[in-house]
Amino acid sequence: MNARPASAVPSAAGFRYSLRGGAVEIANRLAAREDVDIAADLLAGSHLHAARSTETLRQWAAAAADLGHRMATDSGLDHDPSVPVTEEPGGLVGDQLVLARYLSRPPTVVLHPAAIAAAEAVVTAAGWATLFPAGTVRRAAIAHEVAHGLLDGPYRRRLRACAGPVLLRWGHRSWRGVVVGADEIAAHAYARIRLGLRRSPLLLAAAVTELVRPQPPTDPSRRTKES
Ligand SMILES: [Zn+2]
Repeated sequence: MNARPASAVPSAAGFRYSLRGGAVEIANRLAAREDVDIAADLLAGSHLHAARSTETLRQWAAAAADLGHRMATDSGLDHDPSVPVTEEPGGLVGDQLVLARYLSRPPTVVLHPAAIAAAEAVVTAAGWATLFPAGTVRRAAIAHEVAHGLLDGPYRRRLRACAGPVLLRWGHRSWRGVVVGADEIAAHAYARIRLGLRRSPLLLAAAVTELVRPQPPTDPSRRTKES
């Protein structure tokens, strides 16, 4: 049903990708899960958490999302800082799509339009136009990176405290470590609230991971010979 044949799509910035068939079925399966379970899956993807139970990962994911929500409603924060937004080609690291990056010195959000276009193609193929209306992917990517800036600044300590495992106890004091991946979950949760979305953009990120099949760049010299 609406299964789209995998066909290579040339992206605006030079990398090629195809979308897996069965996008709607895959999208429906993902959307049937709660955001917190998708977030727990993200944590489970790190070998650092291999020994943790699903319930522990779920608790950490929920705490990280809660932190993102609190950041998004913190009236003391500048939610629309004048961070320059630039665009660069690329957006493919290994076989992973990277929509945007946050550079701290100086604070800058770098968008990769080709990767954003690929994510928008996933929204269309999944039939998620109501979940992620036009323009949402770009705005969510910027909000996500702004959140990274906040997590790197005023919210750094709270990120550590919100979900980190206790590394050391001494009397009544304890020191916690940051859960790898918690910042991603918090940043997605922040973007969800700031944009007023029903679902976390983490759902879209999971769909992108499942549906987008990057293809190795073609060798221009070979293309010349073949043409
Ligand atoms: Zn991120």
